[in-house]
Amino acid sequence: MPSSPQIDPSRLPELVAALPGIEALQGIAEIAPAYLVGGAVRDLLLGIEGLDLDLAIDGDLEALAGAPGFQIEREGLFLTGRLELGDLKIDVTRTRSESYPRPGALPEVRPAPIAEDLARRDFTVNAMAYPLAGEAGLIDPHNGLEDLRAGLLRVLHERSFIDDPTRALRAARYAARFGFDLEPETAKLLAEADLSTVSDDRAQTELRRIAAEADPAKALQLVVEWGVMPTLDSGAPSRVADVARLASEPPWVGWVDRELAVTLAIVRPLPQIRELAAATPERASQAVGLANPWDSAQLLVARALGAEWLDRYAADWRHVRLEITGEDLIAAGIPEGPEIGHGLDAALSGKLDGELSGRDEELRIALAAARGEIPED
Ligand code: ATP
Repeated sequence: MPSSPQIDPSRLPELVAALPGIEALQGIAEIAPAYLVGGAVRDLLLGIEGLDLDLAIDGDLEALAGAPGFQIEREGLFLTGRLELGDLKIDVTRTRSESYPRPGALPEVRPAPIAEDLARRDFTVNAMAYPLAGEAGLIDPHNGLEDLRAGLLRVLHERSFIDDPTRALRAARYAARFGFDLEPETAKLLAEADLSTVSDDRAQTELRRIAAEADPAKALQLVVEWGVMPTLDSGAPSRVADVARLASEPPWVGWVDRELAVTLAIVRPLPQIRELAAATPERASQAVGLANPWDSAQLLVARALGAEWLDRYAADWRHVRLEITGEDLIAAGIPEGPEIGHGLDAALSGKLDGELSGRDEELRIALAAARGEIPED
């Protein structure tokens, strides 16, 4: 990213005053010292609109119990809460310090002042705070502003990726989103990040965040280039790019969950999905038989791997229904049992393949199949 000297912290008071829900935030700041922190401050400085707000409170969250829209979400270990004001949802945490009992483990957390809370964070650009009461002004003990202007991701200390290797995935996400570079020392430290010390769950959480990005393939390309996740195959970025693009176009948009499909595309596809991708069904009924067992996200991965016929499935074939039901077969004298299913399947196949239309023909074929007069596929 080109350096951005126009990032101007003296505009923060007016930008903060214009935030939606600012009255409620200031109400909270009258009860306990409250700070905008992390990505919220970074994005305000970058002039990004519609940002997510993160609020940190230097005090007991229970003291906020009476504040309008505030509720404690998880008491105990992680000391979090949530402020809901109409559409606006703001995460609230108690300022805290973290220490890591061993590499990759969940941190031990204890209440601590804002300076320590900032010192536990991932990158300097995410380690700034802005107080909502008292003396206004950016709190920036790690020179995040300078790095933000230079477009650099810099860790706060040399054990950062050892404590929490998922920060390497976070770095890829921010580098891709903002076009930032790794500060050279950070790049060296990152090359040593070992994601195998982290639980699959935590790595998955960060991969899902990558999947939610506008350009997930760009972030993933960095993860592959940096070599921090050996389980990723080199085909992942292009698979992800295809899935992300297809997910936002008809016939998949509105049916498939983009984030889920992209998350699936990140990992090596299941052998069965590769098989599905390589299949060449000759008839619609065959295609439906192959596709039906899978959900839309898995199907989109197979589509991205080459199964273009799945576009027809997504657009049309999956919607095809019979006019008759099992009741019609029972009324015509077929006993309840598996024959009903055989009959309906045969009629649906005929309909999909354009061999029959209308209720009467459906019933004729279904009855013939249920009576064993048509061989099953
Ligand atoms: P985004 O805009 O993608 O949500 P964010 O910066 O708000 O970015 P979150 O994942 O919501 O990211 O985290 C909020 C803040 O918490 C970050 O800005 C960072 O300061 C801190 N943080 C989150 N995860 C970590 C981590 N693994 N290690 C250190 N600090 C972290």
